[in-house]
Parts: sequence; C-alpha cells; structure tokens
Amino acid sequence: MALHSFMDTFGGKKSAESKMPVLFVGHGNPMNAIELNEYHRSWKKLGKDLPKPKAILCISAHWLTKGTWVTAMERPRTIHDFGGFPDELFAVKYPAPGSPEFAKETQKLIAKTKVQPDLEWGLDHGTWSVLLPMYPEAGIPVFQMSIDYSKPPQYHYELAKELSSLREKGVLIIGSGNIVHNLGMIDWSGKAYDWTIEFDSKIKDFIDGRDHQSIIHYEKLGKIAQLAVPTNDHYLPLLYSLALQEKNEYVSYFNEKYEMGSLSMRSLII
Ligand code: ZN
Repeated sequence: MALHSFMDTFGGKKSAESKMPVLFVGHGNPMNAIELNEYHRSWKKLGKDLPKPKAILCISAHWLTKGTWVTAMERPRTIHDFGGFPDELFAVKYPAPGSPEFAKETQKLIAKTKVQPDLEWGLDHGTWSVLLPMYPEAGIPVFQMSIDYSKPPQYHYELAKELSSLREKGVLIIGSGNIVHNLGMIDWSGKAYDWTIEFDSKIKDFIDGRDHQSIIHYEKLGKIAQLAVPTNDHYLPLLYSLALQEKNEYVSYFNEKYEMGSLSMRSLII
C-alpha cells in the first residue's frame, strides 16, 4: 500500500491517545535535511499527516555505545556528526526539548538490560535530518535511545519489543538508518548495484511475509548481505521498528529508491 492510501485510511485524525504508528526511515545523505528533494518532501508530508505525538523516540544508526543509554536532558544539543558538508548544514539547529520523563519511563520499561540516562549526547543527524522537515517548529520533545554495538541483532529485536507500550502513550518511535548502506562502494553516477537491489528486495519480501527471523539473520543471505551491510549500524534500527509490529498491523512503504549505488532509501510505516 502506498503511503498516501495508508494516510487516507489512517485519516491523520486519531488523537495521540490511540496507538502511534512506528516508522523506519532511510535517512541517507545528511543534505536531505535542507535540500528540498523528494525525501525531504516525504518527511515533511509525514509530519503533516501523522497524529501529533506527545514525544518522539529515535533509535539512530549514529549513536552506537557500549550498553544502552537514553538521552535524559531537558535541552538536547544538535550534533553535527559528519564532515565535508556545506556550512549551511553545520549551521542547522534543531532546538526541540528533550523528554526526561519519557526517558525515565523507557528505563523502567526495559527489563533486558539496565538502560542508563545520558546527559552528554543530544540529537545526531540520524534524528534531526528527518525531524527538521517533519516538525520544523521543533516543538515536540525528542529523546534518543542508543544501540549497544556489542550485541547481536536478535538482542536488539528483543529489546525493542519492550518499548511497545510507549506507542499507547503517544510516543512516535522512529528507527533511522538504511537497509542497504555501503559508503565504501558509493557510485556518484547513481545506478544501483545489483546486490543493492537484490538485498533490498529480499528484505522487503521478508517484511511482507512477516518473516522477522530471516531479517534478524540477514547474514544468511551471504555475499549480498556482506556488500549491503558491511557493518550493521544502519541496519539495526530496522529491527527496532519491525519488533514493534503487532499481529494485526501491516507495513506500508515509502521512498522505495536507491541512491549513489549502494544506499537503499526504503522506508516504512507500521
Ligand atoms: Zn547515516
């Protein structure tokens, strides 16, 4: 189902009291934050169509830690965690408030590990590049949860399930990464590699078939998985989103595109 028809069904009218959808967003190039391209426009539209969240929890590919942390400050800073981009992008600020309350609640919810409060991080570009177009007024509290990079995919999937009740409390959960992400193989001429397309479409088929185990064990796809996911920092946020899919919920896709040969922008809404 295309995003627009999903939105027609959803109506965008439900209050934040009903269960919030879950997003996985392929964020791609940080310039998408400020370039008025198709990705920027799709995120802007999401912000208009979705029910207004009470808070946003983002699991970004760009916050990898030992142990699991949640940002718990009142005023998270905007982190420009990249190099070689125009000054215009470094000048971007996303001054959304934090949510120490929901951070505390998240700490309580997770039994799998001891989630620790963080006062140092802030909002990295995996978060703000998407939220700036979505909610330019930056009025909705935003907090992040880190990815414990010492743990295997199955661990992240199970941990993410424990976040489920936040959806009923008006929290919009966003996994921000890319299903295919191989910066070493970037081809500026733009044509997607065969393995980009093959891996991305296999993952889509698994999502459609609700075969989450095959998505967790993506390495079994062999060579194409090694090329598409040379490191799994951008892939793991997908597991955080899919883990929250309930039996009666379906997935619809947007931005089913490839960029620079070795990036999949495939994004989804549950
Ligand atoms: Zn990234």
